[in-house]
Amino acid sequence: MKNIGLFGGTFDPIHNGHLHIGQAFADEIGLDTVIFLPAGDPYHKPQNTQTPAKHRFIMTELAIADEPRFALSDCDMVREGATYTFDTVQVFHQQFPAATLWWLLGSDSLMKLHTWKKWQTLVQQVNIAVAMREGDSLNQTPRELHAWLGEALQSSRVRILQAPLYNISSTQIRAALENQSLSDGLIPSSVARYIQQHGLYR
Ligand code: ATP
Repeated sequence: MKNIGLFGGTFDPIHNGHLHIGQAFADEIGLDTVIFLPAGDPYHKPQNTQTPAKHRFIMTELAIADEPRFALSDCDMVREGATYTFDTVQVFHQQFPAATLWWLLGSDSLMKLHTWKKWQTLVQQVNIAVAMREGDSLNQTPRELHAWLGEALQSSRVRILQAPLYNISSTQIRAALENQSLSDGLIPSSVARYIQQHGLYR
């Protein structure tokens, strides 16, 4: 049976931390594929400063090109209105009915899981793989998640990434690009070229 990782994010821009955790999860859980799902443009925020989805999608495509286990889907970009993880998971369940699905996320996202649409149903349909982010600890998990998390860790429906942390965020990358002070090794060179060619993050 196939193990499929679903990795949703804004990817504004995608960085080596995303690639690192995608690879580490694939190794540790034995994922056959990790499908990157760039978020669509926020439909309710006319003034939003987020980079258009088209650019974020192409940067993600460039970034994952060298890893055969990585794939890309526009599933979260083409749906009308708000996109919820719950709905995304239904789409992939229909597409891969025999597969075990894993939702990959950082610990900052885990801490908000109880605010997600139908989260209690969601966690019965998808396993969760968590990459801890610097400064986060499972002790800070909100009370609403305690009972589920304790049980899910025991039954391995939630797995915590064992690979070392990769302390980097898109926010830091955007700030460094604005100041023209981005260090090497934080984003793939193909993505850096694309950003330059299209004058993004100025
Ligand atoms: P931003 O700084 O704009 O909030 P981000 O770096 O968190 O962006 P997202 O595209 O929002 O990137 O992240 C997608 C998912 O990847 C989220 O679940 C996030 O927690 C996780 N993630 C991103 N970077 C890391 C990292 N360095 N370590 C662990 N998880 C990460």
